[in-house]
Amino acid sequence: MKLLYKTIFIAIVIFNLVGFDSVNRKELFSEEIKLRVDELLSKMTIEEKVGQMTQITLQAIAKTEGTGDQKFVIDEDKVKEAIQDYHVGSILNVYNVAHTVEEWHSIINTIQNIAVNQTRLGIPVIYGIDAIHGATYTKGATLFPQAINLAATWDRDLAFKEGVVTSKQVRASGIPWNFYPVLGLGRQPLWSRLWETFGEDVYLASQLGEYYINGAQGVNFGAPDKVATCLKHYVGYSFPINGRDRTPAWIPERMVREYFLPSFEAGVKAGAPTVMVNSSEINGIPTHSNYHLLTEVLKGEMNFEGFVVSDWEDIKRLYDRDRVADSEKEAVQMAVMAGVDMSMVPYDFSFYKLLLELVNEGTIPITRIDDAVQRILLVKMQLGLFEDPFPQVKWSSEFYNPDYDQINLQAARESIILTKNDENLLPLSQDTKVLVTGPTANLLSVMNGGWTITWQGNAENLYPSGENTVLEAFENKFGKENVSYSQGSTFDEILDIEEVTKAAGESDVIIACLGEPAYCEGLGSINDLTLDEAQLSLLKELSGTGKPIVLVMLEGRPRIINQIINYCQAIIIGFLPGMKGGDAIADVISGNVNPSGKLPITYPKSPNGLMCYDYKPIEDFDVNHYTPQWPFGYGLSYTTFEYSDMKISDREINDGDELQVSVSVKNIGSRTGKEVVQLYLCDLYGSVSRPVKQLKGFEKIELKPGEVKQVSFIITPDQLSFMGRDNKRIIEAGDFEVYIDKLKASFKLL
Ligand code: BGC
Repeated sequence: MKLLYKTIFIAIVIFNLVGFDSVNRKELFSEEIKLRVDELLSKMTIEEKVGQMTQITLQAIAKTEGTGDQKFVIDEDKVKEAIQDYHVGSILNVYNVAHTVEEWHSIINTIQNIAVNQTRLGIPVIYGIDAIHGATYTKGATLFPQAINLAATWDRDLAFKEGVVTSKQVRASGIPWNFYPVLGLGRQPLWSRLWETFGEDVYLASQLGEYYINGAQGVNFGAPDKVATCLKHYVGYSFPINGRDRTPAWIPERMVREYFLPSFEAGVKAGAPTVMVNSSEINGIPTHSNYHLLTEVLKGEMNFEGFVVSDWEDIKRLYDRDRVADSEKEAVQMAVMAGVDMSMVPYDFSFYKLLLELVNEGTIPITRIDDAVQRILLVKMQLGLFEDPFPQVKWSSEFYNPDYDQINLQAARESIILTKNDENLLPLSQDTKVLVTGPTANLLSVMNGGWTITWQGNAENLYPSGENTVLEAFENKFGKENVSYSQGSTFDEILDIEEVTKAAGESDVIIACLGEPAYCEGLGSINDLTLDEAQLSLLKELSGTGKPIVLVMLEGRPRIINQIINYCQAIIIGFLPGMKGGDAIADVISGNVNPSGKLPITYPKSPNGLMCYDYKPIEDFDVNHYTPQWPFGYGLSYTTFEYSDMKISDREINDGDELQVSVSVKNIGSRTGKEVVQLYLCDLYGSVSRPVKQLKGFEKIELKPGEVKQVSFIITPDQLSFMGRDNKRIIEAGDFEVYIDKLKASFKLL
């Protein structure tokens, strides 16, 4: 029946192979820069070229080795060996813990002085760093909410501003290249890097990625306060089947194109000049050896002109882990021929030596090397490194600006999601006597997560003393006399239950702060999404006191809390709100700020009930249902918004037409509040099963009590498209529905 319907109604329009060139992107590099690079390339020896493709870590050029307490001392002999003997083109990373701006300047000056003044061609090094939620590895940097929180703000402007500030502070440190943003979709809640993503939705992640890049790079990423961004991890890394970091994904080509490529496409269109490869494999093919995805799709279809960098040691891994190559040399050949332009080796010169052999024997054609080096040099030249590769002292004096703290605080506040508020328990008046308890109540690391001062982000003693934990923020806001504290439990062990329940009995309200410690990458892998037993028990014990409980979850992924939901009168999902997280949470609980964060992921109710909001009809059919704890896009406010008067410009449109949809939103409560107006679309019948709804537009607005605003959206023709059965993007005629809040409108594409 359905097929019959399709044969009658389908008018398939293939608008191009994958739709990647449907938007005109400005050229990344000018003709002048291309000519200069060609000229330089023509002077380079094979050794110099292969060296440009080699990236090593700062540890490889250090005098000291060992713990974070040791002061890092650069070893000039090792720098000379790397740059003069092996012609190394790039260096990355920090020496264990964040350096001061001055230390960075000294490191970069030493490196560039040797590269520029003590080599034949004077080619500068491109230094790269992970500045994930701000300049992670520069002391005193503004450390924002992590990406999952930025996504919870649904605020393009904040993404833009975070990009601006991060670039200023990274470039002020003398570093021109940031391995960020992560544009993989967070559709696997168990994954330990979920919080590095902008959530589960294609459109939300694409938009925030685009705005972040625009802020970070401006119109010219070579400007002295901008950096080159790096899209990662291309592609499918974020969707491991078993949920553990760096494990396989099975994503058929059609679904790669439908869900996982568009955010990278948006990043490429926004002008990101570098891309980092997925450390793992999809469909059995380690991505570092995937010619199709790296060369045919990224560099071909998407017309990506920049360069592709491997992830950490991942070319070697093709041999010693994945065993798709039977020697390290074959691994190098596979990766370079697949399209990897630079190897994050990172400890030695094995890549250089093996690649040189491969080129000299003719196994890898020089044309492929020239292509890779040309791409790398284009980025270096566009960055202005050939004009001035040295840190600019003037920028370091502008490293800090109080405005950055304000942006950070605003981002943290807007990222806090209120998911439950029975009988309007919140906000609490500031003379309420509160007990603050739980393992995340009095730590800064739990609000920042990984990539904070150190890789794992868990070195609490290195955190700035001027920032407030949740407990400290409560003491400031409610007054020390109104706030008591008892930890109650660690992450996985109950402490003194009598003490905490006694303190609870003496308070009006319990603020229970649960969640996760800071972690990063594989060290954060878990086998059960359920919150640790000790924390669940703590909450249950506290509920026995009969005092109202406000649960605050600080976590990098949605730990299952279904067992304790009913014990809590109010629940706040804070995820990783950054350095200003404590203040933001106290602001929301005290009503100083009206919460406006909305979930950028589906919050699951049970460990195996993992579905994203854009599920297929069959997942909500017969005995199947979408029953999350809270759906994507959800979040309460202290005021109420009323939606009405949804208008649609046409009931019938032709292919190529845009459609305008508008709605009125009124604040019918008594407080000013921000609302995220979300527009979803459903293609009712499709030759490939269509999701029940997909986000296609959102606007964040602020309304005073009684105020009404009209919000308009344009649905563009490509937003009606999807990947057809033959993996090509198509638009099919037929019926569509648009949803905003509980309102609905229909239209037909002729
Ligand atoms: C991570 C990347 C990071 C790189 C360099 C890898 O382990 O997967 O996200 O950019 O290290 O630090």
